[in-house]
Amino acid sequence: MDFHRSPNHDNRPDDVGVDMLVLHYTGMQSADAACERMCDPGAEVSAHYMIDEDGTVRVLVPEDRRAWHAGEAFWRSNTDINARSIGVEMVNPGHEFGLVPFPDAQMAALEKLSKQVIQRYSIVPVNIVGHSDVAPRRKSDPGELFDWARLAASGIGLWPIGVEPTSPDAIDANALLDGIGYETLDMEQTVTAFQRRYRPAQIDAIIDDETAGLIQSVHSLVDAC
Ligand SMILES: [Zn+2]
Repeated sequence: MDFHRSPNHDNRPDDVGVDMLVLHYTGMQSADAACERMCDPGAEVSAHYMIDEDGTVRVLVPEDRRAWHAGEAFWRSNTDINARSIGVEMVNPGHEFGLVPFPDAQMAALEKLSKQVIQRYSIVPVNIVGHSDVAPRRKSDPGELFDWARLAASGIGLWPIGVEPTSPDAIDANALLDGIGYETLDMEQTVTAFQRRYRPAQIDAIIDDETAGLIQSVHSLVDAC
C-alpha cells in the first residue's frame, strides 16, 4: 500500500456507523492526476482508497474519517452517504476520457480490500454500491464495464442469477427499485443506473421484460438479506 495524505475529510457523526461501501472510477486521464486532485484542498473531493490499474492501493483518508466521495446522494432513505461509507476510487479514464475494462490485477486488489472492509464493518450485500446507484441523476461511475458479476462471485455485493423475464405490467418498478434502495425521483435515470449495473449490455432506460425480471430478481435478493 502507498500512503498519501488527502486533507479532504471531516469527522464522522457519532451516531452513524459505517455500513456501506461505495465504488467509483476516477474519470481522469491518469492515476497521478486523480491522486493530486484528491489531495488538493481546493478540490474538496477524496476517497479512502484509490486502486491503480496494476493493483497498487493508495491510502488517502483514514477509515475513521468521513471522506468526500459521494456528494449529494441517496440510498435506502439515507442521504449523508459519506458519513456511513468507505469510498474506493478505481483508476479509469471513465466516460469522459475513454472508459476501458478494469484490469485483472486492479479487480483482484479491489476484491481483497473490499473483503477486509466488509468484514470490519459487517456490511451487507445490498449496501455495496456504485456511485451511480446512489446518485443516478448525476453520476455514471464506476460504469458499465465494471465487473459486478465477478465481485459477487467472490461474495461482494448482489448479483441475480437465473433471472426470468417478467412483463413490466406485472410489477411496480417504482416500488421495487425503492425497495432495493434507489431514489426514484427521476425513473428514467434510476432505470439507467440499474441497467448500468445489472444489464450493462443494454442501457436504454426502458423497462422491458428483461429489465423487469432483473428488477424483481434483485429485489427478492434484498428481501432475503
Ligand atoms: Zn464517483
